[in-house]
Amino acid sequence: MDYKTINCDSVVKKITKKDSLFHGNYCVDPYQNCEFGCHYCDSSFEKTIYVKANVVDILKKELEHIKNGRIIIGSVHDPYQNTEKKFKLTRTILETLKQFNFPCHILTKSPLILRDIDILSQLECMITVSISSLDDQVVRIFEPEVPSPNDRLQTVQALRTQGITAGVALIPILPYIVESEVESIVKAARSVDAQYLLHKHLELKGDQERLFRNLIKAHYPHLLPKYDALYDNDFNPRKEYIQELNNTLSGYCKKFKISDKITI
Ligand code: SF4
Repeated sequence: MDYKTINCDSVVKKITKKDSLFHGNYCVDPYQNCEFGCHYCDSSFEKTIYVKANVVDILKKELEHIKNGRIIIGSVHDPYQNTEKKFKLTRTILETLKQFNFPCHILTKSPLILRDIDILSQLECMITVSISSLDDQVVRIFEPEVPSPNDRLQTVQALRTQGITAGVALIPILPYIVESEVESIVKAARSVDAQYLLHKHLELKGDQERLFRNLIKAHYPHLLPKYDALYDNDFNPRKEYIQELNNTLSGYCKKFKISDKITI
């Protein structure tokens, strides 16, 4: 992995469509690309991580001119990937949001977020930690560089213990691989006091589709025909599959008394 520091012209992107999943109005990413390398994610293809060295200077200028709204940090690339230990850009972004009184929603897979509990507890913020499986074998195949699911769940528990709003995202749901454990995942989220369990199906687009199919071919060859039928000339799975998945998840969320959406 290479690291390059860059200067950017702008950092705050406005979210134009209503964001009913994460409830954001803007997004900010301190790093471009992601070291965690999940094999279902576009951010993992590039082998260079671009570190936006001037992110805070530009952010300060931009916050002065926009209407107050929730800023999503990490909508595209994990803000607590390993390089954050050295550069601390996410931490300085949080300090800036506190100074300007902007709320935020952080999406991550990393326990490194616990380093910043002192600032998080002074901010209007929510934290969503993503999990795609609790099964070590599945995690080794699809998320080989990411902190373990147990570490991620313990991160949610630690945030909740400090009174910080936090939940789990079961995103993406890997078809025919993870359905058998979704009940355990909802139960695990509840057991660490997650306040919600967000979920979304897997989309397969462009290069990501080709790489993902290669992984399926290597590790689950019997599933290839099922994937062909499920993603029939579309990047989304068939509508009936999505509907059934959503119904199943809603049922488990009711059973374990956890919301399947963020209610603000
Ligand atoms: S941690 Fe998130 S941004 Fe990074 S590769 Fe995985 S899914 Fe993509």
